[in-house]
Amino acid sequence: MEGQQNDQSRERDVAIGCALLVTAAAVITAVAFPSALPPQASFNDRENRLLDSQAARDTGSTGSDSRLAPLLVQREQLGLSARGEPIDLVRIGDGPIPILILASIHGNESAGTALLIRLERELQRFPELVDERSVFLIPMANPDGVALNQRFNANGIDLNRNFPADNRQNSLRFGREALSEPEARAIHGAIEAFAPSHIVTLHEPLTCVDYDGPAESLASAMSDVCPLPVRKLGSRPGSLGSYAGLTLGIPIVTFELPRNARDLNDDQLWALYGSALIAAVRWQPTAIPVTALPVTP
Ligand SMILES: [Zn+2]
Repeated sequence: MEGQQNDQSRERDVAIGCALLVTAAAVITAVAFPSALPPQASFNDRENRLLDSQAARDTGSTGSDSRLAPLLVQREQLGLSARGEPIDLVRIGDGPIPILILASIHGNESAGTALLIRLERELQRFPELVDERSVFLIPMANPDGVALNQRFNANGIDLNRNFPADNRQNSLRFGREALSEPEARAIHGAIEAFAPSHIVTLHEPLTCVDYDGPAESLASAMSDVCPLPVRKLGSRPGSLGSYAGLTLGIPIVTFELPRNARDLNDDQLWALYGSALIAAVRWQPTAIPVTALPVTP
């Protein structure tokens, strides 16, 4: 009897162990190989990012469990700066509405980089914000300018005048021709590859929400939830705003943080401007309501 019980006990243990192994394998498979990756999912390190993303969500204090599919988070090198520094791109989500948000195209206006790093974290904590979205982030579009704490890239060119807009002007500061600079080519390539439904570019210090193209309601949606008023600054020659908004007709907001933004820490920046970025993520041309913005300081 005793021997029989031991045998039954061993059989039960083996059965439980097998069941656990099968369950673990199923979880790993579900995390590493989501069923609906988009065709352009050619990023490196996809599986690792998915696992990292899942781990971040599992340990997040308020993350939603409503999505069964893992949140897609991918990183790739979009291009290289004039000095050969990487220009990184982060993709969050695999939905049908692509959104491009970039910061630090002017190297001495880098508060936006901190905001986009925080935005990436928050979108992973609240993956429902990314539903139906693919959010493409370029947190530092001009890494050489940031390193040199200067507006221009390492060649002395204003990247935000280097785009092939209809109002483009060639000059020493704006570049000898459109897209003469590798950083501008990288951003241009992202627009061509991902066809964003709308774009947000973060600047300082003009303290307003400026826009080009059919973006008035996007600008209002962002302004409504942050201290910055909507203000039309006028289109600059060869700017990203002119190119995307006027030449291509893509709604684009130039989000101009105040001069003191770089003195604020990550929490202070997010408390003031995080809701505006989330409003931009949730906005679409046929406006949908922006509700329940989970901004936490
Ligand atoms: Zn600027």
